[in-house]
Amino acid sequence: MNGLDRVEKRYDAVVVGARAAGAATAMLLARRGLRVLALDRGAYGTDTLSTHALMRAGVLQLARWGLLERIEAAGTPRVRRTVFHYPDEVLDIPIKPRNGVPALFAPRRTVLDRVLVDAAVEAGADVRHRVRLADLLRGGGGRVEGVVLEEAGGAACSVRAGIVIGADGLRSTVASLLGAPVTRQGRHAAASIYGYWSGLDVDGYHWHWGPEVAAGAIPTNGGEVLVFAGVSARRFADEVRLDVPRGYRRLLAEAAPELAERLGDARLVGSLHGFPGHPGYLRRPSGPGWALVGDAAYFKDPITAHGISDALRDAELLARAVAQGGDGALAGYEAARDELSTRLFDVTDRIASVGWDNAELKALHQLLSDEMKREVAALVSLHGEEGEPVRRTA
Ligand SMILES: Cc1cc2nc3c(=O)[nH]c(=O)nc-3n(C[C@H](O)[C@H](O)[C@H](O)COP(=O)(O)OP(=O)(O)OC[C@H]3O[C@@H](n4cnc5c(N)ncnc54)[C@H](O)[C@@H]3O)c2cc1C
Repeated sequence: MNGLDRVEKRYDAVVVGARAAGAATAMLLARRGLRVLALDRGAYGTDTLSTHALMRAGVLQLARWGLLERIEAAGTPRVRRTVFHYPDEVLDIPIKPRNGVPALFAPRRTVLDRVLVDAAVEAGADVRHRVRLADLLRGGGGRVEGVVLEEAGGAACSVRAGIVIGADGLRSTVASLLGAPVTRQGRHAAASIYGYWSGLDVDGYHWHWGPEVAAGAIPTNGGEVLVFAGVSARRFADEVRLDVPRGYRRLLAEAAPELAERLGDARLVGSLHGFPGHPGYLRRPSGPGWALVGDAAYFKDPITAHGISDALRDAELLARAVAQGGDGALAGYEAARDELSTRLFDVTDRIASVGWDNAELKALHQLLSDEMKREVAALVSLHGEEGEPVRRTA
């Protein structure tokens, strides 16, 4: 048995990583009748390093999958406006209910990822936590034919699969084992620091922009508000890393002085979280017997708060391609993803430079808004092919 403790049954698909991208893909494949195993080296329902403002495309996906009610039932507040605070003006944009999206939402990852995992299990997927992908099984011509897994206690097993899907995030083991080529590379990286605040009254998403700094307030579960500060990765390394709480306060005071002042009457819940920044990329997302989805395939700077929305979008594109079958359908997945991603990727990369002036930043936000509308229209027409949203109860 090649030194492995045991060989498990064969699945149609094995999904490595069971959060936004992986759990959603597993759910969609299982709903289409495939035998699916999703695994994650982390524990069920845990948090992860990520703010979590969803854009319309992400909320649309949750609504279409019949999961938005669960997100709301977990106490995730409706976000009915998004406010851009520029140095010279404030743009207050109402979120109009449309296409089954009543408002925007920013569910904690402990809520969102759990809802997706539960939905995958209900659809019939096997989901296992605290299991790590150690290696890939390959057949003739290098085709991926399965995975070698390692459980927390160190026991190893191999699982054969029709397709192995890497949904294992920014530092994807699947992508690196495959040497999946990068097809588009970002040049910039913004760092961010965030914390959760109670006793802070915030209505809607608020994005603040100052010279080379950004900040934001995002209402979330438990009546708390996520407040973040963003800056170039270089400035984070030079000025913030050694004293994160002080750097956080200083950046907030630069980008959003009024918000920073109001934190004086609020309480920080838990500790601050810091992300040093990472340049974006698009990777080739499929090949013989394998595919990538979510950050493993496509990472863009968090400054435009769009990673989860795109992970939910691409879970849909990939699941449809896998269900259709064949390497040709997988090539179609790459084409569809790129068609919806490259402009948004480039705009995000430029915003992440934090090297714009006010006029350029506003123009970039307009381009971003146009791309998000295009993305929503594409999803609406995709779902339109199948009629009304799926409704499933627990
Ligand atoms: C600071 C920050 C702020 C962000 N803010 C936002 C935001 O406001 N809005 C937004 O939409 N997006 C945001 N993002 C982006 C968002 O977090 C990602 O796009 C999203 O998490 C991608 O989901 P995923 O499922 O692809 O990957 P992940 O959420 O990273 O999940 C990958 C999973 O794979 C598992 N895994 C990894 N390796 C293995 C292995 N070898 N074996 C088994 N399991 C493995 C991990 O345990 C993990 O659970 C932010 C990101 C950062 C870093």
